[in-house]
Parts: sequence; C-alpha cells; structure tokens
Amino acid sequence: MDVAHRLAVGPDSADDALLEAVEAWVASEVPQSWQNAAAEGRQAIRAIRPRAEYEAWYPSFAATGLAVSTWPVAYGGLDLSVEQARLIEGRLGPLNLGRLNPLGLHNMAPALFAHGTEAQRLRFLPPMVQNAERWCQMFSEPGAGSDLASLSMRAELDGDEWVLNGQKVWSTWAHHSEFAICLARTDPSAMKRKGITYFLVDLRSPGVEVRELRHMGGTVDFNEVWLDDVRVPDTNRVGAAGDGWRVAASTLAGERQMVAGSGSGGVDRIGGSGVARLIEAARRNPVDPVMKDRLVALYCEEQVRGWTNERVRATVKAGGTPGPAASVGKVHQGTLNQAIQLAATDMLGAAAMAFPLADTWAESLPYELSGMIRSRANTIEGGTTEVNKNVIGEKVLGLPREPDPWHGASWEDTPR
Ligand SMILES: Cc1cc2nc3c(=O)[nH]c(=O)nc-3n(C[C@H](O)[C@H](O)[C@H](O)COP(=O)(O)OP(=O)(O)OC[C@H]3O[C@@H](n4cnc5c(N)ncnc54)[C@H](O)[C@@H]3O)c2cc1C
Repeated sequence: MDVAHRLAVGPDSADDALLEAVEAWVASEVPQSWQNAAAEGRQAIRAIRPRAEYEAWYPSFAATGLAVSTWPVAYGGLDLSVEQARLIEGRLGPLNLGRLNPLGLHNMAPALFAHGTEAQRLRFLPPMVQNAERWCQMFSEPGAGSDLASLSMRAELDGDEWVLNGQKVWSTWAHHSEFAICLARTDPSAMKRKGITYFLVDLRSPGVEVRELRHMGGTVDFNEVWLDDVRVPDTNRVGAAGDGWRVAASTLAGERQMVAGSGSGGVDRIGGSGVARLIEAARRNPVDPVMKDRLVALYCEEQVRGWTNERVRATVKAGGTPGPAASVGKVHQGTLNQAIQLAATDMLGAAAMAFPLADTWAESLPYELSGMIRSRANTIEGGTTEVNKNVIGEKVLGLPREPDPWHGASWEDTPR
C-alpha cells in the first residue's frame, strides 16, 4: 500500500483535526461534480457517476485508509475508534462512497482476523482493501446449500500443496474475481462438520473453470465453478485442517451482518432508507389511502430493523460477536426489503409492465422493477429465511434441535 497517500490521522487525533483532514481530502480528491450532486441526494450521484468511473477513482480513496478506518494501519486502515469512524461517516455519508469488494471485506476478512496467520493478513488484506485483488465466496454446491456441511468438494494433501476437485455453484462475482474463499472436504471419514478445511484459492490457477449463470433479472451476477486438480499451497489454508466449519462461521456471521445492514458497509450506508425514498416520491405524486397505510407500516418496520442492527453493532463494539442476533436482522431485512421493493413497483403502476423486450432489456428496466426482481433473492442469499429461523429457534430461543437421524455418523456414511 502506498503509505504516502494515507490520511495523516490516527487514534490520537482530536475530532476537529480528524474532520479537518477529511474535509481537505474531500475538497482536493473527490470530483467537484460528485460533491455538487451530493447536495441533491444519492440518486443524483448515481445518475452522474458511472460505475467504471467510480472503480477507476476508488484506489485513491482506499489508499487514504478511510474505506476501513477502524482496521490496523498494516492492513490498510487508520486504526481509528468506532466513534471516530462514525464521525467521519457523517461527513462522507452524503457522498455515497460505497466500499468495493464486499465479499472480501465482509466474508474473507472476518475469517482472517479471527483465524488467519499474521502473514496471511499482511499478504491478502491490503490488496483486497484496494480492490486490486477481488474476492468471491465458493461455499455452496449443487448438493450442499442450506445443509452446507454435507459439501463434497475434495482436497487432498500432496507435499506442501492441496489438490482440489469438485464443483461449486452460485459463486457471486467469481467471473470478476482473482481469489475465492473455498470450503473443501479433507477427511471424509470424519463427521460432516469435522472434515472440512477452509482455503484461499487463486482463481487464475490451472484447472479452474468459471461458467456464468444469467438470473431472472437478466444479468450475470453468479457462476458455476469447476475445480479440476487445482493446486493450493498449504500457506493458503486458514485455520487447522478439519477446522474449516469453525472458520466458516466467522465468514457467515459477517455475511449475515452485511445482508441485514448491521455491518459497516451494509444497506444503511450504501442505499439509504428505502422507505424514505418512497415517502419522498409519494409527496411528489400523491398515492391512495391504501398505499399510505402500507408506507406507514413499512416505515415503522424499518425503524425496528434499524434498532435491531444498532443492538448488533453495540454487541460487537462491546467485544461480543454478532452471533445468532445477526440472524434476526437477516430474516427481518429479507422480508422487509421485498415488501419495500414491491411497494415501489406498485407505485409505478402500469409503467411497471411497460418495458422493451430486447437483448438489453435488463438495462432498460426502471430501477424500481429491477430492485423488486433482485429482492426475491434476499430470503435465499446468505442462508434462507427458513434456515435462519431454525438458527433463531435453536440458538436464541433455546428450542429443541431439529431431529438428525445421522447425528454422529461420518460424512461418507451419511446419505446425501
Ligand atoms: C443471489 C444469490 C447469491 C448467492 N451467492 C453465493 C455465493 O457468493 N457463494 C456461495 O457459496 N453461495 C451463494 N449463494 C447460495 C446460497 O447460499 C444458497 O442458495 C442458500 O444457502 C440455499 O441453498 P440452496 O439454494 O441449495 O437451497 P436448498 O438448501 O436446497 O433449500 C431449498 C428450500 O428448502 C428449504 N430448507 C432447506 N433446509 C431446510 C430446513 N432444515 N428447514 C426448513 N427449510 C429448509 C430452504 O429454506 C429453501 O426454501 C447465493 C444465492 C443467491 C440467491
């Protein structure tokens, strides 16, 4: 990382000095047109800032350390306290400087912080923060989604390298990524959760084949990935061999937090309040009493979701882990966002049905409609609503566990 561009602030900086440094950086490094648009709201920024332009500019933002300001300097951050980060967030929020590489930030990084070696953190975190190495997650398989622990991808040790064989699916952004976090089975004779190991896989290695999957929104976001004798150095194993299930728990908790919006880069930060946007639209174009009623109910629910996320953040701040509480937020956010997106589509009325059916139809969809289609995945991605309800029932409410007739059996003796 180019230390010369890091913002000259640290944990000892007074609040005034911190804000002054951020202010000076915004004035000199954030394009004036973005600053002007910020005054008109997030939609205005989106309208004038193409993604490619943002990606080209992003490394200079990441180099300041502001993208992960609470992380240690050696990993790309500024070592600031959560309070200092919040202060900065207040100034940067209106500029909508979304963090790139979310699967690196929220899925890979928590595992490296909790279970990685210092050498792994120094090697992988700074280029991930810079978006110079992009990350995806290869956990799910055709036969292992909700029941992830039954996964079949094999990894066998050969000298100081592991040889990986098998298939993954739904790997979001694998077609744009340099690296993947990947779970593979290293001991089939162990119980299914015991014989799994967590790897960092270079997707440019020989034997990796990524095939794109187009979803109902018309775009390609996820992929099938085949690994055929892919060699992964033992130095890219996170945690002990056979302990990958425990390592993966850090990743999955981080993912649930991201989807629920309680993580630092969650929906609150990048998308703002969905309901507030609808209420704003309803002020401009009056809606009928039934829609008014829906908006009030959605507004109340969104407040409750916000408070749940606050509780998770407070737990993390106090040194706890997000744990099962993040599942509550995840379940709530999934269904709530679907209801918000559906209301947005209903407010469009007949216009929601009229869009050109051409090769480029996905790009011509009104954002309300593409948002509604995309939101169907909210109750599946990051663990389905049904499975998260099981987690809440067992881990939060202490209800009896689901019966498992194969409890105690080895993976190879368990039917799949
Ligand atoms: C947009 C999107 C992006 C994704 N990105 C990634 C990614 O980047 N990397 C990755 O590894 N995976 C990814 N996934 C996969 C995701 O994690 C899985 O789809 C999810 O865990 C469900 O697994 P499955 O699709 O195999 O469904 P299944 O597990 O087959 O479930 C089918 C249905 O059965 C229900 N069900 C299953 N078990 C139970 C149970 N015990 N009790 C009650 N109901 C149950 C489920 O709720 C669901 O309704 C993504 C999925 C989506 C939709």
